[in-house]
This record gives sequence, C-alpha cells and structure tokens, in this order.
Amino acid sequence: MEDINPSDTRRPVEDLSDSELSAWLDARGLPAYRADQIRRWLFRKRATSFDAMTDLAATLRQALARDFVIGSLVMQQCLGSRDGSVKYLFRLGDGGVVETVYIPEAGRVTLCVSTQVGCGLGCVFCATARMGLKRNLTQAEIVDQILDVQRRCPEDQRISNLVFMGMGEPLANYEATRGALDVITDARSGMGISPRKITVSTVGLLPQMRRLMEETRVNLAISLHSVRDSVRSELIPVNRKYPVAQLLDCCRSLPVPRRKRITFEYLLIDGLNDLAADAAELAGRLHGIRCKVNLIPFNPHEGSAYRRPSETVIERFGETLRARGIQTNVRRPRGDDIQAACGQLYHAAVAGGGGAENIGSPADGRTEH
Ligand code: SAH
Repeated sequence: MEDINPSDTRRPVEDLSDSELSAWLDARGLPAYRADQIRRWLFRKRATSFDAMTDLAATLRQALARDFVIGSLVMQQCLGSRDGSVKYLFRLGDGGVVETVYIPEAGRVTLCVSTQVGCGLGCVFCATARMGLKRNLTQAEIVDQILDVQRRCPEDQRISNLVFMGMGEPLANYEATRGALDVITDARSGMGISPRKITVSTVGLLPQMRRLMEETRVNLAISLHSVRDSVRSELIPVNRKYPVAQLLDCCRSLPVPRRKRITFEYLLIDGLNDLAADAAELAGRLHGIRCKVNLIPFNPHEGSAYRRPSETVIERFGETLRARGIQTNVRRPRGDDIQAACGQLYHAAVAGGGGAENIGSPADGRTEH
C-alpha cells in the first residue's frame, strides 16, 4: 500500500461497522448482501484495492473508491528477534507510531496489538507510559495491524491468536476496541478468529470490563501486580479509583463462561512484590475466583529503576501459588532483544517518519541478530 496522504479525507473502509456499510449501500439503492461481499474481500482475501474486488460492478467499485480508502497504516520498520518474534512499527496518517509484535510459537502464531498511541495511565514500570497518551487508535488502525502483518506472512501461516497487550489500555478506548473485535470475530464476513483465541488485557477499568464481558466472549486478563492497595496504587495509579477489593469483587460477579478463567497478570519486581508472603496473600485474595495467574518477570527498559527477581525467587513464588491450588505459569519474555517484550514498547513519535528500515519479516524468514 502506498503512503497515506494526510489531506485525503476519505475514511478507511475497515473503519465501518457491518451496519454502517449496509447503510451506505442502502443509500445507493444496493442490496445489503453486497456488504458481506465487500467485507469478505477486505478481511478474508485481504484485498488492498477496490479494483481487486472483481465480483462487484465497476460502478460500485468506483463509488467505494470515491468515498473510502483501504488501509490506515504504513509499515515503517520491522525488527526481527533471535527468538523468531518480529516487532513492527506502523506509522499512522498523522505521523504517530504504534508497535505490533508477531510471536510464532509451537502450533500457533500470536499477534500482540496496540490500541492507543502511548498510554495515559502512568503505570510506573511500563515504557509505554513514558510517552503519555497521544491518542486513541481507530477501529481501522487496530484491525489493519492484523491485516498488514497477515499479508506479510507466508500463505500457510495464519495469525491464530490475538492479545490486546501492545501499547495502550484497550478499555480506555472501548468503542474502537469493541468495533475491532466485531470485525475480527465475525465468522460470516469478518476475519473469523474465534473469541476463544483472543485475550484483552486491562489494568481493571471496572465499568468497561463488565461491558466487555457482557458484550463479547473474549478472554480477559487483568494486570494485578499486587493485592495491597499501597503497592498497587504506587505501580498502577488508577488503582486509587478502582482499588483491589472492588476489582476482585467485580471479578467474582463477572459473567465469565463456565469453562473459562480470568487471567491475572502479576509482574514480579525484585524486592517489591516478590516475597513468599506476597504469594500467600495473593493466593488468599484470589480464593473463589475461577482464575489462573501469569507471572511476568520484570522486563527492563531504558529509564527503569526496577529489577527482575532471581530465577529462584520467581520459581518459589510460582510454587507457593501452585501449592495453594492456583494454576500458575511463568511468562518468558519474547523479543526482549528488540525491546518487544511486555512493557518495553515505546516510541518517540516522529512526525513525518523516516525511511523504512526493514531487517527481517516473517515473509522472508530472516531474523537477524
Ligand atoms: N494496559 C493494558 C494492556 C497492556 S498489556 C494492561 O496494562 O493490562 C502489557 C502487560 O505488560 C501488562 O500486564 C503490563 O502490566 C505488563 N508490563 C508493563 N511493563 C512491564 C515490564 N517492564 N515488564 C514486564 N511486564 C510489563
């Protein structure tokens, strides 16, 4: 796709909901089923031009091109990690930059998508927070991260899993995130990725969290990091608004389907929240919530004063939780050599951007370093 012209006022067609596209067609006296056809071209066949939509009448293709464009991102850079993951930097129409991380694993390919340029929550351990909130991404900009990376993958390699764990707080950009999830999970004419393969991570914005669980069937992950308000408020300032007891009460009452569990992410920081007593207290507070815990050893980044605990401490913390009946995994960092691991996404927004510097992509299989 060519560069994005900022003075072009046409809207990316991926930004439209199913009903908006149907309404656009209706206004032109065209049947609603054309919407399915257009959406399949976009989200299944990943068309990059209206001209490619060969089973649509030429007049319809022209009308679409008059009102809409396809694509909202320009790939500016991609960095390959020695572990096979790839970090993409996408430039937006206004010069902002977001990062998307491609993570190949045994039997699946996960994409970690961003929902905001920067983030306004100010969590002290996270590199993205240092950017502040520049703006929310649109539905198109969220969806296009997936479409763009998928186009670069070999034919036999489908993005199978999605985690909303990139830059930003998805639930602080609820409408666009929700709209993107509709397109992504729509099995009729959207991407058709099962909500079971999608996880949305949040610091715990309670009203939106409840809404998400009522309106979708995606998995929920909550960044917990401590069950003590004094510690959690220091790490995650929004804890002052939604303290631990309220958060956990909300979790108890969420409509989580019977066979599902809430994931709690627990960042392990040396000397701050990694004692055996912290693990015991955590297990106690989670009692009665159908959940699992992902331990994330702190990933260092420029400007961070925290440190990752030793392997022994990490293992012992996990063991204490397991001994109390809590399913626990230790998340190993992916792409930490390219600053792509949890909490390492950061980009000083540069208007205009530079030239592309591509040093590896899943398509050519090159992963340097
Ligand atoms: N705003 C959402 C989505 C981001 S997910 C949320 O906070 O849940 C990114 C995950 O990485 C979160 O669990 C976050 O707490 C964690 N994280 C942030 N900085 C980190 C760091 N330096 N090391 C390890 N994990 C980090």
